[in-house]
Amino acid sequence: MTSVLSEQQAPRDLASPLDDARTQLREAIDVLGYDESLYAMLAQPRREVTVSIPLRRDDGSVEVLTGHRVQHNLSRGPAKGGLRFSPDVDLDEVRALAMWMTWKCALLDVPYGGAKGGVRVDPRLYSEAELERITRRYTSELTPVIGPEIDIPAPDIGTDEQTMAWIMDTYSVSRGHTVLGVVTGKPMSLGGSLGRASATSRGVVHVALAAMESIGLQASSSTAAVQGFGKVGRGAARFLSEAGLRVVGVSDQYGGIVAPEGIDIPALEEHVDETGSVVGFCSPLDEGDSVLALDVDVLVPAAVEGVLNASTARLVKAKVIVEGANGPTTPDADRVLASQGCLVVPDILANAGGVVVSYFEWVQANQAYWWSSEEVDDRLRERMLSAWTNVRTHSESHGITLRAAATSLAVKKVAEAHQARGLYP
Ligand code: NAD
Repeated sequence: MTSVLSEQQAPRDLASPLDDARTQLREAIDVLGYDESLYAMLAQPRREVTVSIPLRRDDGSVEVLTGHRVQHNLSRGPAKGGLRFSPDVDLDEVRALAMWMTWKCALLDVPYGGAKGGVRVDPRLYSEAELERITRRYTSELTPVIGPEIDIPAPDIGTDEQTMAWIMDTYSVSRGHTVLGVVTGKPMSLGGSLGRASATSRGVVHVALAAMESIGLQASSSTAAVQGFGKVGRGAARFLSEAGLRVVGVSDQYGGIVAPEGIDIPALEEHVDETGSVVGFCSPLDEGDSVLALDVDVLVPAAVEGVLNASTARLVKAKVIVEGANGPTTPDADRVLASQGCLVVPDILANAGGVVVSYFEWVQANQAYWWSSEEVDDRLRERMLSAWTNVRTHSESHGITLRAAATSLAVKKVAEAHQARGLYP
C-alpha cells in the first residue's frame, strides 16, 4: 500500500493536462511551420457542454452532480471519445483529453474528430441503480449533441459496457428507434464488436513489441512493469506476458506489487476479480517506491495523466515507455526522459487500439454486418503497425521525438481538412 501513495503524492508539474496538450500542439505547429491562427483555432474546443445531474440516491436524498462533454474538433467526421466517471474530472482535463482524441483519430486515419466526456463522481461510492440513473440523466441532457453522425461516446476510466448500454438505450428511447451507432464499447448482445474490450491493450502491446525491436530488445529476455490494472493495464500485462516478457511489477490505486521472477498474470486477474485490487497477491513494493521507478525494460503507465512529471521521470529506469494512459507524461518529463535516452511511445499512438476497434464497431453497426474476431484483430494489428512505422520514420527523418512526430503528423491531417473546408461564413 506504499508505492502508489507515493506516486499519488508526487507533486504534479504546476501545468494542467490542458497546458500540456497545448504545449504539445504548439511544438507541432512550430515543426510544421503553420501560423498562429491555426494554433488559435486548434487550441480551443469547437463545442463544450456542462450539465447538472440531479440524482435521487437510494436512501431518498437528492444530490446534484456535474458532467461535461467537450467536442474538440469535428472537421474530419463526427466527434469520438470516452466517458469518464471520476472524482478528479474537471473541465480542463476533459478539454485536454478531447484534444488528444482529435490527434489520435487523425493519426490512425479514423474518420472522426475528437471528444471526451466526464462526470465528477466516484463510481465506487454509488450503487448500480444510482450509476444507471446518473448515466441516463447525463445522456438525456446531452441527447441534442450526441449521435452516430455527431458524437459517439465510449468507455473510459470508471465506465464500462453496461454504461454504454444505458446510454444507447436512453438515446434510442428519445429517438423512438434503436440506434446502435450512438456509442461504442457496447456489450456483444447489443451490437458490440468482437475484440473491442481488449483492443486498447492489444494495440499497446503491438507497438510495445515494435518499439522494443527497434532498439534491439527481445521479448523473451525483457521485463515490464504496468501502472494501473483496469481495462487497459490488465490486458496490457496479460498480452505482454503472453508475448514472453516477464511482468515484474504492477500497481493500482490501492498499492503496488513486485515479483522479480515474474507475476502470474492470469492468477493476478482472478485475485483482482475476487478482491478488487492487486494488493495482497504477492510482495508489496517497498515503502516509498513506485512502480514507475522499477528497473525494467518496458514501462506501461495505464492509469491517469500527469504521473510522469519532472521529478518522477528522473527515477525511471525503463528503456521504453508505452503510454497506455492518456497524458501520463508532462512536457517537462518528456525532456528529462529524452535526455536519459528513454524511448517514449506517445499515447495518441500507443493506446489508439481502442478507438480503431470502436471505429470498426461503428462501421459494423452501421452496416449491420459483423466481423470475426480474427478479422478485427488482423485489421487492428495492421493499422497499429502502419501508424508506428509512419511515426518512427517521421521522427527519424526530422530528428524529433516520437511524440512530436505523432502530434505533427496528426495536426497536419486536421489542418488539411480545415483548409479544404475553408472558413464559414
Ligand atoms: P479503468 O478505470 O478501467 O482502470 C484504471 C486503473 O488505474 C485502475 O486499476 C485504478 O486502480 C488505477 N489507478 C488510478 N489511479 C492510479 C494511480 N495513481 N496509481 C496507480 N494506479 C492507479 O480505466 P481504463 O479504461 O483502463 O483507463 C486507463 C487509462 O487509459 C486512462 O488514461 C484512459 O483515458 C486511457 N485509455 C483508455 C481506453 C479504453 O479503451 N478504456 C482507451 C484509450 C486510453
